Amino acid sequence: MAWSDKSHPHRLLLTKQFPLGLEALPVFQPVMLAANRIWNSCVWHSRETFRQENRWPTEAELKAKFKAFAAWKELHSQSAQAVAEEYFEAVSAYRKHRENGHLEMSPPGFKPKNHLRTVTWKRQGFDVEDDTLVLKLSRKKEPIKVALPGGWNVVTLPDGTEVKGVPVEVKVKAVVRRRKVENLVLHVTLDLGVVSVNQTGAVSAYDYNSAMFARAVSSGRLDLFVCRELLSLVQYRNKTIAEFQEKVSRLKEGSRRWRRCLSAKVRVLKRLDHRIRQMEHSLTKLFAELDGAEGVAFAVVGDLTDLRRFARTWMKGKKATQKINQMAYDRLRQEQRYKNLMWGIETDAWTERNTSSTCCLCGTRDPAWRRHRGLWVCGRCGLVLQADLNGAVNLLKQYLFGSCTGRVELPFAPRGVRVWRWDGRHNRFVQVSSRAA
Ligand SMILES: [Zn+2]
Repeated sequence: MAWSDKSHPHRLLLTKQFPLGLEALPVFQPVMLAANRIWNSCVWHSRETFRQENRWPTEAELKAKFKAFAAWKELHSQSAQAVAEEYFEAVSAYRKHRENGHLEMSPPGFKPKNHLRTVTWKRQGFDVEDDTLVLKLSRKKEPIKVALPGGWNVVTLPDGTEVKGVPVEVKVKAVVRRRKVENLVLHVTLDLGVVSVNQTGAVSAYDYNSAMFARAVSSGRLDLFVCRELLSLVQYRNKTIAEFQEKVSRLKEGSRRWRRCLSAKVRVLKRLDHRIRQMEHSLTKLFAELDGAEGVAFAVVGDLTDLRRFARTWMKGKKATQKINQMAYDRLRQEQRYKNLMWGIETDAWTERNTSSTCCLCGTRDPAWRRHRGLWVCGRCGLVLQADLNGAVNLLKQYLFGSCTGRVELPFAPRGVRVWRWDGRHNRFVQVSSRAA
């Protein structure tokens, strides 16, 4: 739904959606089809270049090549360029995956002729007249005018304040179900400006793990989030992908069964992704709400670049790497970041070095004390604690004092542990008795 800009960590950007109804289809269809033609030209040209010269064309090459095309002249120049940029991004992602050993990936391909491609209007591509968006096309064509409901550019923050945003990007997307266009939706990204963050308050630290997420707050509050359902969904998704890949590889490319298998794959994954996203959203929302309610100013999460380096050098075993790559930690952190921002909480990444192999109570380090089944049993002071909670407290200590080892005193008196788990009936995390963990 929303994202905040990487280069501007305090800038809040939110995307609002407005269904347009099928009446808008005749107006947008020619534009979306033109965008689709540009995409297909990109695919064709890239494949030719790759076949003849054994290299992928650059983004600038693609743009220069298609400037004279009829389809390019249907759209506003920035919208046409956006298609080439999207294609180039898809190719880059594909090449990166190949380099990382995912040989089963195939490069971005042709879309059917009647595919309604998402069209993007950048800042210079549209104007705003009160509650009407004027979406520009090429210079010779009349722009498309869309009336939006009053308050379309207003967002209410959790504390009740209303912020008026400036639109920075508009997209029109088709909602397709079973090959039928069901609706068109306008996605308007609003820039809500730089949000002021709390300068003083508590600090919370998060330990992201595959089946458990732990939280420790400088007030002494400890929370454990049981995410087994989320992990099993992610694992099931990976298994499903592998199974489809296997099936597809045995079929003839382009055949009817091959096409049917691919569309079944898309359908199944869409459903799974929806459930995964829902759980992730619910989890990060709970994090922000807890932090907001408990007066947290800084939320600390582990530095992922650290984790990956660690995975490369130490955990060479395939299983460990798989475990790390399973969850979308990047996406979760990004979601947590922007949800926190709406509460005025700053999110900070900090090194997790030694946090899982040190006792949070006495500061003695010994990797062997992390027992299997996720329990930390200190051989020196006798502390027995869920291992991820131990990690979260250490991350908190590391953030506050620079290091978690060798430091005897805890910065706070730990209180009882609250345990949260997914409630499938109400689609949210709920607090359960602490024995359940
Ligand atoms: Zn200890």
